[in-house]
Amino acid sequence: MALKDVIGHDKAINILLRTIEKGKIPSAYLFSGESGIGKKFTALNFAKALNCISEKRTNNYNLFYDACDECPSCQKIEKGVHPDFLMIESEGNQIKIEEIRAIEEKLSLKAYEGQYKIVIIDNAENMNQSAANAFLKTLEEPPENSLIILVSSMSELLPDTIRSRCCKVNFAPLSSDECLKVIKNVIGNKYNSKKIFSKTSRTKNAYSRLHEIDILEIISKLSMGKPGYAVTVNLIEERKWFIDLLEDMMNAEKDGWSSREEMERWFELLLVLLRDMALLKVKEDGNYMINIDLKEYIEKLSRTMSLKVIIEIYEQMSRLKGYLRYNLNKSLTWNFTGSLLRTRMDINNA
Ligand SMILES: [Zn+2]
Repeated sequence: MALKDVIGHDKAINILLRTIEKGKIPSAYLFSGESGIGKKFTALNFAKALNCISEKRTNNYNLFYDACDECPSCQKIEKGVHPDFLMIESEGNQIKIEEIRAIEEKLSLKAYEGQYKIVIIDNAENMNQSAANAFLKTLEEPPENSLIILVSSMSELLPDTIRSRCCKVNFAPLSSDECLKVIKNVIGNKYNSKKIFSKTSRTKNAYSRLHEIDILEIISKLSMGKPGYAVTVNLIEERKWFIDLLEDMMNAEKDGWSSREEMERWFELLLVLLRDMALLKVKEDGNYMINIDLKEYIEKLSRTMSLKVIIEIYEQMSRLKGYLRYNLNKSLTWNFTGSLLRTRMDINNA
C-alpha cells in the first residue's frame, strides 16, 4: 500500500504529497478525526513515502513522491522493523513516560537507514500527564530529520501546548461509496456469509432479507463511514447481539449487558435503530437507512409510533446515553429503558 491507495481523504493526501514535493517536512503532525477512518493507515504510508529508496521513483512522476511499497525500506516500515521507525500503540491504556523516553532515544540517534526518523503515536490522547510533559520537551526541540505523527480520535483531550506545536491534518468519515470500496478491498474475505446464515437467530424475520442484499454493502452501511471499525468487529453479529438484547428487554428479562462499554455500544445501536425508524416515517423507500436489510422489521417495529414519538424517544435515549459516563446502575438503567420502550414499541409483532 502507498498514499495513492488511501481511499477518500483526497485533501489530506494532497497536502502530504505536496509537503514531500517541497521537501519541507514539519517536525510534528497531528492527524485528527474519528476512529476507524484511515488516519493511522495514512500515517504509515506517509512514513513509507518519506523513506522510500526505490529507484523506480525517479522514472515515474506518479510515484515520485509516494511509496513504492516494494523496496526494503517500504517493506520494513510496513512490518514495523525499520530501524528509523517506531509505532506506539496504546489501545486504551495510558501512554507512559517510559514510552516517551523510547521516542526521545529513537529520535536522538542519527538516521540509520532512512532519510527521516519517524515515530507514529496512535491514540495520542492516552498520554498521561507526566508523559505529556516529557513529550512537550521533544516537540520544543525536535532533533534534525525527525518526524512525529500524533494520531488521535479525541485530539481535544491533548494539552493545548502539544496541539499548538503540531501541523494539523483533519480526516472526515468516508462517504458511503468510499466506505464500501475500503471494505471490499481490505476486508472483503473476512466475513464468511455461510457462518452468518448458519447461526440460528431468535429474530428470524429481522434477518430474512440478509441474502437479498450484498453482505459487504450491509457491513459498509453499519460501519457508518468508519470502515476500520468493521475490521475489528463483526458488525452483523454485533447487531444481532443488539436486537436479541432489545427483545429480552422488551420481554422484561434480566439485564444482559456485561460491561459499561457494552451498555454504551448498545445505546449507540439503539439510536441508529431509532434514526432509521424516523427516516422510514419520512421516506418510505428506505433510502439512506443504515440497517438497509431490516426495512420490513423496522417498519413493523414502528407501526404504532408517530414520527413525533420516535423523535421524543430518540432524545430521551440520547440523554440517557450521555448519563452513562456517571456510572449509572446497570439493572436500573435496563429496567427504566425497557419500561419506556415497552409503552411505545410493538416488538412482538415485528
Ligand atoms: Zn519504497
